[in-house]
Parts: sequence; structure tokens; C-alpha cells
Amino acid sequence: MKKNVLAVVLVFAAIIGLRAQGPPPAQQMKLEDVQKALSLVDKPVPAPDKFKAGLEAITAKDSIAMLTYIASDLLEGRETATRGYALAAEYAASLFKMWGIKPAGDLPMRGGFRMGGGGGQAPQAPPEKTYFQEFALRETTDSQSEMTIEISKGSALKSRTFHGGADYQGGFGGMGGAAEGTVTAPVVFVGYGITEPSAGFDELKGLDLKGKIVLVLSDAPGRDNPLSPFQAKKELKDKYFPAPPQGDQMAMMMRGGPQRFNKLTEINKLGPAAIIQVANTGKDATIFNALSMVRKPSDERPIINKPRRRLSLASDTGGGMGMGGGVQSTTITREMANFLLEGTGQTIDDLKKKIETTMKPASMAVPGAKVTIATTAKTALVRGTNVLGIIEGSDPKLKDEYFVVGAHYDHNGAWEGYVFNGADDNGSGSVGVLNIAKAIAASPVKPKRTIVFALWTGEEEGLLGSRYYAQNPVFPIEKTVGYLNYDMISRPYDAETLARTMRAYSVPGAEEIVKKVRAPWFVSVNLTEGTPFADIAREMNQYVGLDLAFRFNALGVGGGGSDHSSFASVKVPYVYYMAAMTADYHQTSDSVEKVSGELIAKISQHGFLTIYAFADR
Ligand SMILES: [Zn+2]
Repeated sequence: MKKNVLAVVLVFAAIIGLRAQGPPPAQQMKLEDVQKALSLVDKPVPAPDKFKAGLEAITAKDSIAMLTYIASDLLEGRETATRGYALAAEYAASLFKMWGIKPAGDLPMRGGFRMGGGGGQAPQAPPEKTYFQEFALRETTDSQSEMTIEISKGSALKSRTFHGGADYQGGFGGMGGAAEGTVTAPVVFVGYGITEPSAGFDELKGLDLKGKIVLVLSDAPGRDNPLSPFQAKKELKDKYFPAPPQGDQMAMMMRGGPQRFNKLTEINKLGPAAIIQVANTGKDATIFNALSMVRKPSDERPIINKPRRRLSLASDTGGGMGMGGGVQSTTITREMANFLLEGTGQTIDDLKKKIETTMKPASMAVPGAKVTIATTAKTALVRGTNVLGIIEGSDPKLKDEYFVVGAHYDHNGAWEGYVFNGADDNGSGSVGVLNIAKAIAASPVKPKRTIVFALWTGEEEGLLGSRYYAQNPVFPIEKTVGYLNYDMISRPYDAETLARTMRAYSVPGAEEIVKKVRAPWFVSVNLTEGTPFADIAREMNQYVGLDLAFRFNALGVGGGGSDHSSFASVKVPYVYYMAAMTADYHQTSDSVEKVSGELIAKISQHGFLTIYAFADR
């Protein structure tokens, strides 16, 4: 079931949404634009001679052979900074070595010190690098949070302490993970926390939120009032009351689909110590039910209550609240909110009503209220490892420019006998990188520019490995001309899913085009606009015969979701391939017998040709 919902979103994004930031309504889409976004090849033609050896080095059989090891139970789900991941890393390094690919990682350690640091000794040949780029990660487990609300009225002081996970949702974690520390701050009520000039409505105007605890209502005013501008205006309704994403659809958004507007991100830019949110409508019982919910058993999915473990780049974390760039927020009950607001003589629902009837802000510093949030956690440093190899360019000048080919190698680990094998996610993309490495190694003439092969760690924990590389590049970022990303390239679409999609989104004439699309070879390709990627990809497709749908992003826009974002954030143009996402996504059922070796091989061949041509210009 979920597979279908998801595939609709994916294909819709690929075909209809030419730009990541808000696809235009389907009706406005011109037929030529749909055509331009697709590359369909009836019958592939033989590739030029210089590509032959490389293309032959990539086979479905070898792809499956490599993936069978990478996704085996023995590697225990390749969780970052575990033995299973280390075994996978050694495997890739030994393949690189076998194919004659040079190591591009750190210098070896000797006696506890990195070699090659000078030291006044007689000059000698520099020691050879390893295949591993290693770095410290901060591991956080057992995170707990407590919130104490103090209310002073005259000389009277009232105080209550609430517990994360029992009285309010979650802890204060944010995306950056470890948010240990204590913060005490006064409270500012910001209503719905909305700045919307087109509705003549600004609840944040003139407020100093820096270092404050911000109390905010979710959604926007007038959930049930058709006359509210937030209901009457379609753009505003879509912005503030979007249909809730479901299971896999949410995963899709996280993986490079259109990003939704998040008002908490906007509020966070004003530097609050923390944001506490109250549901616009709803009852406290809902929160308590959610907190006590145990997953229902399912025939298909095991119940895995794995303890929470968070990882962040050690170099990112300064400790304390508000670190890591994420929004420190949580949802509290109405009971807590009303206690907080005691000094105002009004309840949260009184204030909500006031805003909705007057459509005027009711923002204010909450009199007499002080909140202390204390978060504790166990932290330790662990070691993350990227695998890096290079093949030097053939042009004496242009070899000082680099093209990086990467995929994340880590996955979600194992727990009590259940293994998240991650065959598609992202054993398949890792095999894609290995395939391209082997193909370029097998090519008698190398591309003019140097090719860097990278298998990233920590993607599932927040793109940690690729982010570390982007911040600590082995080869200069300003000399890095492009990046190829593979994430989940082994599961083919089915015809039914594609057909349903086109019925759901009526693009004039598109049905005819889509009839020609062969679902099993359908691949969506995200790329940076204004680069030769699309033209080259289209040209090279005549030698491979995939059915490609291009989706363009502006330079610097990654859309989150996979390691291409780390390169987008340092303005390196990218091309990013993805096949179908299935119900096995992030489940223990993502196993090797479900993948298509042919699809991995074809996508690898297309990537090989595309980056070869791109790096050889
Ligand atoms: Zn992935």
C-alpha cells in the first residue's frame, strides 16, 4: 500500500516538478516542458570505443556479487562506527587496491601519531596514504529532559517540574543531536508565530526572542474558518495547513523531495533558547496517548525497540542548548501551557480565540514566568570512517581538478537478531560507486580530470561523512567541478504505479509520453541547473537506454535527504540518481534478493559515461 502512495509522489516530483522549490500546478505545465524533462531511448546504440572497456567492466552479476557481501547479515547493518561498518570499509578498500585505485585517505598511524608531519628528520619518500578518512563523532545515548516552570505573582512563587517523554513530547534534541545542558529563560508568547505580509499579519514584529523560551501555537489562525486568509487564500492554506505526510511520503520529503515551509525554522532564526509548541486544536489526551503508544504488531514488520543513539560531528558540537543548527522544540500539553500563562489571567484557548476573532497579534512577554529546561545524556567520542580512492586525470593541467563520485555506505545496524541489511539503501549505491571505480580503472585512457571515489559514513545520522568531507576536503572544494550521488538504485518501478500517477496528475498530452516510459527502467535524476549535466546525461543515455526524468535545482540547493546536499551547500554542482522507493525502505526486509542487478548495472554504466564525459571536457 505505502509503496503506491510513495511512488506517486516520487514520479510526480520527477516529471512535474521541474524545480525543487514548489512545483507549478500540473495544468500550467506545457507538453514541451514535460518532454524536456524526460530522456527516453527506444533502442540503445553501441558506445564509442574509448568507453567500451569501462562499460564491459560493469555487469549485473558482479553488482549482485558485491552487494551480497555488503548486505549480508555478517555486516550487521553497517551502522556507523561499528565493526560491521569497518568490515564493509575494509572490503571496499581491498577492491580499490585490486583495481589499482590509489588511496586518498589519511596517512597511516604509527606509534599513535599520524605520519608525515616533518619533525626534523632526514627527508624520505612520504608514506603512502590509507583508503580511510577518519574523524571523531559524538555519540549520545540515554538522553533525558526535564522542564521546570516557575510562576511568580507578587511574593508568591509556584513551581512545577515536568518530564520529557511523560508530560511532553520527546526531548529537546534538534537535528544536531546532543543538546546537553541547562537553560533558564523568561517566556515570550508569540501566538501562531507567523509573519505573513500578504495577510497583513505579523506576530513577531518588534519582539526580542534572543535567548528566550518561545511559546507558540501550531498551524495558523482559523483552522475551521473559511473566511480566515489562511483558509481563503490557496497559497496560504497550502503553506500553513498542508496535508499531513504519510509514512513513506515523509521519507520521500526527507530524501530530496520538495521541502515544506516550517515556521519553527523561521522563529529559530531569531535565536530563541527553545521553542515550546501547543497544538492549535486537540486535547492533552492525544499527547499522552501518543507518548504511551506501543507499536502494533504487524505480520510484515517486526517490532524493534532499539535504544536511541545519536551521532553528530564532534567538530560541530559546542555543547549546550540550541547547538547543531536544528530547531530545539517540543510540544507541550494545554495543562502546562495554562500553568505557564497563569500570570496573564488567560488560558491558551482564551488567547487563541482573541487572535482569531480580531486577526490581531496577541504576542507578549509572559509576566512572571520562567522556564528551566535541563537535558542530560551519556556522551562518548567514536570514530567515523569515509572510504576514499582516486584515479588521476590524464591531462597534466586539468588533473588538478576533481570530480567526486559518492554514495553512503552506512545503514541502520542490527538489534537483537534483526539486521537492517540495507541492500537497496544504500548497498546498491555503494556498488554503483565501486562499479564506476572499476570501469574507470579498466579504461585504457583516463578522463582529463581526476576522479575521487567516496563511500560515506553517517548518512543515516544526518549526512555526517559527506558533511565532514565538504568541511575538510582532501582535494580543494574550489577545484571540485562536480559530484555524482547514488542513493537507492536497485529497485525498479512497476507499470501500474507509473500509469496511476499520470491519471492522478493530468498533464495535457503527458499520458501519451508516459505510455512510452518503460517502468522498470525509469530513473529520476536530480541535477544542478545551468551545468552540462543534463545534456551529457541525455547524450550518454543513447548508449545505455534508461528512461530518465530530470529534476533541476539551482546551484547551492540540495533539498536535503542525501549526500549531494553536502556538496550543494559548498556550491559544487551535482547529479543524483534514484530508482523506486518501496515499502522495504528502512525495514529489515530491504534485502539483496529483492534487487535488480540489471538496474544497478545500467545506472552504473550511465553514471560512468556521464562523469567520464563531464570530467573529460
Ligand atoms: Zn540512503
